Parts: sequence; structure tokens; C-alpha cells
Amino acid sequence: MAELREEIEKAARLLMESKYVVVLVGAGMSVESGIPPFRGPGGLWTKYGEPDMRGYDRFLADPKGWWESILKREGYASELVDGIAQAKPNQGHYALAELEEMGILKYIITQNVDNLHYAAGSKNIAEIHGNILKLRCVSCGHRFERGEISVEMLSPLCPDCGWFIKTDPPETKYENLFS
Ligand SMILES: [Zn+2]
Repeated sequence: MAELREEIEKAARLLMESKYVVVLVGAGMSVESGIPPFRGPGGLWTKYGEPDMRGYDRFLADPKGWWESILKREGYASELVDGIAQAKPNQGHYALAELEEMGILKYIITQNVDNLHYAAGSKNIAEIHGNILKLRCVSCGHRFERGEISVEMLSPLCPDCGWFIKTDPPETKYENLFS
């Protein structure tokens, strides 16, 4: 117990002495909120196998087919989406929001798509893998709330520039892709 206290005090000292604190967050952050991680025991990819990482190429080759498979929630997607739908921020998310409010934490860089940092009140967040509640135009990069875009006709098209809309992860934002 004394050791844990020492570790916490050491972390607090480091935070206080630092000029610009940035936190890098991965799936472990949201496990306490009930969202399964990808790797390790109980991980989604451990159970369902690692997905094909060429999702963006598949999307470009067949946007309609890609969307149909997303809407069917194939593989691990169903468990992830259900987990996120029920999840609430945990003490860790709230602690980071409080550190930001206090002016100590300047930015969160998260790999998580679950929106829980926003739900906890954090403001400065870079979602490097996107946000599950958003969609994104692959050409102009405009982000939309899921509810703003109908998926009755596939693939949905961007109301701003007319190109394809995909789920949010930022690999969609290639420069000059359609030039
Ligand atoms: Zn667009």
C-alpha cells in the first residue's frame, strides 16, 4: 500500500513539474467501462481473429459492399458496438477530464473510438482512429454525426462534395486521392 502511495505521489510530482502534459490512451483505458480490448485475454481479435487491415482499400474497391458488411456488423464489430453503446466513462476518464480542467493536462491522444473522453468532459482530444459516432467524407474530410447521414442508399455521398462517406477512422483522409 505504501508502495502504491509512493508511485502515485511520484506520478503527481511528474505531472506538476511538466510543462506540457499529453496523455496517450489505448484500449486498456476503456476496459473498466466494459469495452473489451482487441488483444490479450478476452480481446476481440483474440476471439475473432485479427481483421484484414486493408479495410480502406476494400472500401475504395467496393464502397457499397463495404457498407453492407459494416451494417451487418460482421466479426467482432457487433460485440464492440454493443459494448460501446452501453459504456459509461470510468474513474480514469473523469480523472483526465479533471486534470484538463485544472490546466495540467493539455491534450489526450486516444486510439479509442468510443467517445468516452468527450462523455467525461475532456475537450482537447485527438482521436487518431476516429470516433464510432461519426462518419467522414473520404475526399474533403468533413465529419458528420451518424444520424445526419442516411445509409438507405449505399454508399452514402458527401452533401458538400459528392464523394463517398465512410466510417470515421482517419485513414480516409489521403491527400490527392481523387485528383
Ligand atoms: Zn466531402
